[in-house]
Order: sequence, then structure tokens, then C-alpha cells
Amino acid sequence: IDYRPAEDRYDDMTYRRSGKSGILLPAISIGLWHNFGHIDRIENGRNILKKAFDLGITHFDLANNYGPPFGSAEENFGTIMKRDFLPYRDELFISSKAGYDMWPGPYGNFGSRKYLIASLDQSLQRMGLDYVDLFYHHRPDPDTPLEETMGALDQIVRQGKALYVGISNYPADETANAAAILKDLGTPCLIHQVKYSMFDREPEDKLLDTLEENGIGCITFSPLAQGMLTKKYVDGIPEDSRAGKNMTYLAKEQVEAKQPKIKALNDLAQKRGQELAQMALVWLLRDPRVTSVLIGASSPEQLAENVASLEQQAFSDEELQMIESILQ
Ligand code: NDP
Repeated sequence: IDYRPAEDRYDDMTYRRSGKSGILLPAISIGLWHNFGHIDRIENGRNILKKAFDLGITHFDLANNYGPPFGSAEENFGTIMKRDFLPYRDELFISSKAGYDMWPGPYGNFGSRKYLIASLDQSLQRMGLDYVDLFYHHRPDPDTPLEETMGALDQIVRQGKALYVGISNYPADETANAAAILKDLGTPCLIHQVKYSMFDREPEDKLLDTLEENGIGCITFSPLAQGMLTKKYVDGIPEDSRAGKNMTYLAKEQVEAKQPKIKALNDLAQKRGQELAQMALVWLLRDPRVTSVLIGASSPEQLAENVASLEQQAFSDEELQMIESILQ
């Protein structure tokens, strides 16, 4: 092992409690959806995770299908874990998920007990771990009874394969139902992972209230709207960006349609003496119901820029109003 994490790694990061639980997450967490597959350079992924841990980011978020190809982010993470992070396993909070398409046939998708349990077994093997700290059902299943899916999460905890469980992409009503079932089973739902950013504000309608009422934390994915809330798209679409590379989930047209707002937000961030990415992250963290913002990064430099956002978190009323008028 040649990696020695920074000794001051806990000095500047803040840790926030996820709902009513013992889970303390860094205000900024890192996800491995992009940049960690077999199509990517593992050395870059390794440098991103080392930088993250050096800055106090203790939470790494994965899913069975991250790659591409499916499973390859967990495989690469397993390699990095073994090489750099095994001595720090108990400082790390590692999550995975199942719920989207993973393998062919009727048991490789959605929310059956059979899928969830088999998928987590596969994930543990790929990552070389005995357990994950947190396991999620990745999206609601319209056909499997919620009792079965939540029963599988409870079973997984009792088997010792996960310490905590959560759900992702569930609407508010189904979240309340899932939380009630899990509570009865004795394995509380402690976190919800949802898309939330300046450009996606749906959780403000109902979900955040439901989470608070049920003692559930909130970790927000794509808080930079996949990079749209950064300075990179202010004057065009760089070739080496997620949109420039024609990645499936971020179309160039989507970015172009947002460019006037991106420009206006970027101007405001500069007036604050902050980068747009930094302003977008601390804007989410103003709400105490938001436990952590779950970012992606394609380089250690991006990650460091994003973490530096925590140095300036205050907003004036005027700035908040300006943001509202830009977003309208
Ligand atoms: P973000 O909104 O943070 O987007 C990350 C991307 O934005 C980076 O990969 C990079 O893209 C760009 N970027 C980040 N910081 C900067 C910066 N400072 N300057 C310029 N560009 C920057 O989040 P993601 O969409 O990546 O999602 C984060 C995580 O959330 C995922 O890894 C995953 O763990 C989770 N997630 C969960 C989902 C769910 O259904 N539960 C769905 C989606 C994500 P570029 O390549 O252009 O440099």
C-alpha cells in the first residue's frame, strides 16, 4: 500500500446526521455512476477517490449497474479498495443499490426479493466487501408488493450484508408507505436518494416534508444537474464534457436550452466570489433536511473545487431572490 491519506482529513469537512439515525454523512459525498467503468481509466478514478478521502469525504456511492458495462464500477472500486482503502474500511460509508435493469430474464430488474438479494451478493463479490454500510432499493417497482421489497431490505440487514437501508426515486406517498412497513419490521428507512438541484426542484413540493416527518435523511443526486450547474457550459459544450461526449443521460439540446440560465447563475456566483458549482451545492445545503449532496467528478480538481464550496455557505436575501428570478 503506497497511499497515505491526509492526516488533517477530518479538519474541515462537516458531517450531517441522516434523519433520526446514527449515520453521519459528509456534507459532500462522491458517486461512481460515471468515470469508474471499464470504459474509463481506473487510475483517474483512483485519484478522485484518494482526493475525496483526503478532503474528508467518507461516503462513496455505487450501484449494481454503474459502469459501463454494468457492474464494472463496482469491480474497479473493488480493485481500488484493495489497493488503497482496506486499512480505512471502518472510516468509510459505502453504499450500493439494485432496482434497475441488471441481468437478463425476469429476476434481474425491479424489486423482487430474489433480485435484491442476488444482486447484493453479486455487488459484494465485485467490491470484495463482506457488507455494505447502506443498501438501497433504487426505484419503485409498480408490480411487486411493497411488503416483499421492504421485507427483502429487512432480510438483508438481518443477514449482515448491509448495516442500513434506504430507498431512491420513490415519490412522497410511496416513501411514507415504505417507511411504515420498514418500521414495523424493525429496520427503519433512514435515507432517501433523490434528484435535487437548482434545475430539478420537485422534492420541494412534498418529498422533503415527508422525509422530515418520518425521520428520514435526504441525499441529493446530480446536485450539479450533471455538470450543467458549473462554469463548463457557459460558453458552449466542451468536447470532453459529459454532454460533449454524447453520454446517454445528458443531451446537448438539454444543455443548450438551459444556457441563458446557466450564464445568469454564473454571473451571480462570480459576484459572490464563488464558482457556479460551489454556489449550486451550498444553495442545496441551506436546507437542514438535506443531509448530503452527492456529486460526481471527472477529475480530482473538480472535486476539490466543489468541496471548497463549504468555505462560503451564506446567502443574502437579495441573492436568494435573484436565484429565484433566474430559475423561473
Ligand atoms: P453531478 O450533478 O455532480 O454531475 C457530475 C458531473 O459534473 C461530473 O462528472 C463532471 O462532468 C461535472 N462537474 C462536476 N464538478 C465540476 C466542476 N467543478 N467543474 C466543471 N464540471 C464539473 O452528479 P452526477 O449526475 O454525476 O450524480 C452524482 C451521483 O449521484 C452518481 O455518481 C450516483 O452515485 C448518484 N446518482 C443516483 C441516481 C439514482 O437513481 N439514485 C441517478 C443518478 C446519479 P464532466 O464529465 O462533464 O466533467
